[in-house]
Amino acid sequence: MSPDQGAPTPAYIGVGSNLYGPEEQVERAIDALSRTPESELGARSSLYQSAPFGPVDQPDFVNAVVRLVTKLDAPTLLHQLQQIENSQGRIRGEHWGPRVIDLDLLVFGDMIVDLDDLKVPHPGIAERNFVLLPLQEIARDLVIPGLGRVVEIAVNRDEPRITLIR
Ligand code: ATP
Ligand code: CA
Ligand code: CA
Ligand code: CA
Repeated sequence: MSPDQGAPTPAYIGVGSNLYGPEEQVERAIDALSRTPESELGARSSLYQSAPFGPVDQPDFVNAVVRLVTKLDAPTLLHQLQQIENSQGRIRGEHWGPRVIDLDLLVFGDMIVDLDDLKVPHPGIAERNFVLLPLQEIARDLVIPGLGRVVEIAVNRDEPRITLIR
């Protein structure tokens, strides 16, 4: 490996669960993220509880956001996230349905990606308080390509049901 691989990229990852002990599942995923190759866990938010987004007849979610400073490229990082989901027994079901773990790549440095299987910044950020609130906690001054500074993105007043757990 070449000694000069360029500066690592700060990436932000949204973590969510509403099945099989959601707090435990989120903690397990953060633990796994901290062991991602070529990467360091830079920060993690508190845990938040939120009403389901989309289909409402399912348990509330537990959500968090982490910063991972990584030398991986974005597709490789997405693949790592999917491996962690698989290792926690994620089964692909109903769109926005209940899931044991969901890891979304929210932001990858200042990169913009628009592929079928990878869109960065994640298109849902601005509508989702369960992403915005934890992001405000760990990355107030982050500038998200196309959206601007995290603290200046308005929280969604139609979606008030989010509370800090711990
Ligand atoms: P949403 O993306 O609206 O939060 P979801 O998390 O329920 O919905 P999934 O079923 O987990 O969606 O993922 C569907 C596909 O989204 C994945 O197979 C992946 O290739 C693609 N995808 C595109 N952009 C991203 C991203 N930034 N992070 C994670 N997955 C992404
Ligand atoms: Ca590491
Ligand atoms: Ca998601
Ligand atoms: Ca996802």
